[in-house]
Amino acid sequence: MFGILNVFKITLKNFLRETFTIMYPDKQKGIPERYRGPLFALTLDKDGNLKCIACRLCEQICPSQVIKVVPAKEKGPTGKPYPEKFTLQLSACLACELCVQVCPTDSIIMLRIPGWSALSQEELLLTLEKMVENGKKYQHSWATGNNLRKFQTPPRKTVATAKKEG
Ligand code: SF4
Ligand code: SF4
Repeated sequence: MFGILNVFKITLKNFLRETFTIMYPDKQKGIPERYRGPLFALTLDKDGNLKCIACRLCEQICPSQVIKVVPAKEKGPTGKPYPEKFTLQLSACLACELCVQVCPTDSIIMLRIPGWSALSQEELLLTLEKMVENGKKYQHSWATGNNLRKFQTPPRKTVATAKKEG
């Protein structure tokens, strides 16, 4: 008898509690300021040129080896190297963010789109063109390579700064 009353007590208590679930996806919770979702973009400078200098640091650090960067033979319009091809296979990405952390030009970034999903394998293969498009279409995460390196103790220098300082 005591057990049954206890069950009723717990049911009543929970029945009167404030609801904290939401009717997803019709309603969505706000996302934290530092949220970054596992979809990537390649960013452009103010003149619309690719920031990527095809240094391949992201390719080398990726533990899943899902990034492939093919540098163009000639320099780009800014006088810097640029990638002729850039692919990222999302299906094996761990979302570890190492590629973003090492990028010296803040080129590769993650995006603020919770709940992004793909309907085909093809959608999971990000190409240079798709990543540039993502950068135009979706909100960028605050977490660029330079911003993330500031959090390291002691802060890590970019490859470019370290080279300048010898
Ligand atoms: S987040 Fe990690 S696993 Fe995914 S592409 Fe970047 S380095 Fe590779
Ligand atoms: S680390 Fe950055 S600049 Fe270097 S190839 Fe990757 S995206 Fe391009």
